Amino acid sequence: AKENGKNNFQFFTADMNELMAKKMRLEIGLRKAVINNELELYYQPQIQVNTGHIMGVEALIRWNHPKMGIVSPAEFIPLAEETGLIIQIGTWVIETACRQAKEWEIQGYAPVRMSINISARQFQQTSFVDTVMEIIENTKIDPQYLELELTETIVQDPVYAIPVLNQLKEMGIKLSLDDFGTGYSSLSYLKSFPLDTLKIDRSFISTVNESGKDAAIVKTIINMANSLDLNVIAEGVETNEQLLSLKQDGCDEYQGYLFSKPVKAIAVQELLQKCMEE
Ligand code: C2E
Ligand code: CA
Ligand code: CA
Ligand code: CA
Repeated sequence: AKENGKNNFQFFTADMNELMAKKMRLEIGLRKAVINNELELYYQPQIQVNTGHIMGVEALIRWNHPKMGIVSPAEFIPLAEETGLIIQIGTWVIETACRQAKEWEIQGYAPVRMSINISARQFQQTSFVDTVMEIIENTKIDPQYLELELTETIVQDPVYAIPVLNQLKEMGIKLSLDDFGTGYSSLSYLKSFPLDTLKIDRSFISTVNESGKDAAIVKTIINMANSLDLNVIAEGVETNEQLLSLKQDGCDEYQGYLFSKPVKAIAVQELLQKCMEE
């Protein structure tokens, strides 16, 4: 028994060491990723339920690691937040997404909204509003087509958040509350924050046709969003059944694998082209 215990302990530390080594490799790599051009944005279309038109795209970051291949943001965004690298990466994301939106405009595509994920640490930087303003000026993107996706953790401190959100609104930017339904004091946020869009979290959508409770929650969120005059987007729509029930509930837009996975800019152009030809 004693021997087993010792072995377990050794396994445990080996695992820990491996984990820590992996984390350190990731961190060192991440520091170089921006400079070495290893980061790339993919875009996932957001579709109007009633017309099938592309209304916007959500920018989603990918890291093409030279050895590890594509690393998921679920893996490196938390690390970037922990180390503070998210500030540099986040600025790169806003700049790259805005430049891409301008590029599509120049190429003559009908304008679509560009939605960008903002992390808490980024939002809490005192320079955040100035950074966004500078990028708008430099890229000459029309701010009404720029939307920032914020989670509830970001707006946890309303005394700090509300003035910042109001400044962004004054610049003409749209604001979206991401992962709605997964946090806690969501309803009070809806009243006090100048939001344009509400995104229903994928966890409710994935079981909307199986769980009566989730169906009721989704329907309630949509009704509430509609009566508050918010644009409501369902995330992670994978099946026609899910889309149908969203349509019956009066959901404005959806995004998910059913229409398209997140894709490279060039593939978005093909989708926009197809939409214009219809
Ligand atoms: P999120 O903002 O909730 O983004 C939606 C995630 O759901 C994306 O994962 C997307 O690829 C995935 N998804 C979309 N449709 C479907 C579907 O039909 N089925 C399934 N199973 N998944 C779907 P992704 O790209 O891996 O991003 C994960 C998270 O990483 C994002 O969650 C967001 O929190 C974060 N993230 C991604 N890009 C950025 C970024 O540029 N900045 C920051 N701060 N965070 C980012
Ligand atoms: Ca998002
Ligand atoms: Ca989400
Ligand atoms: Ca609506």
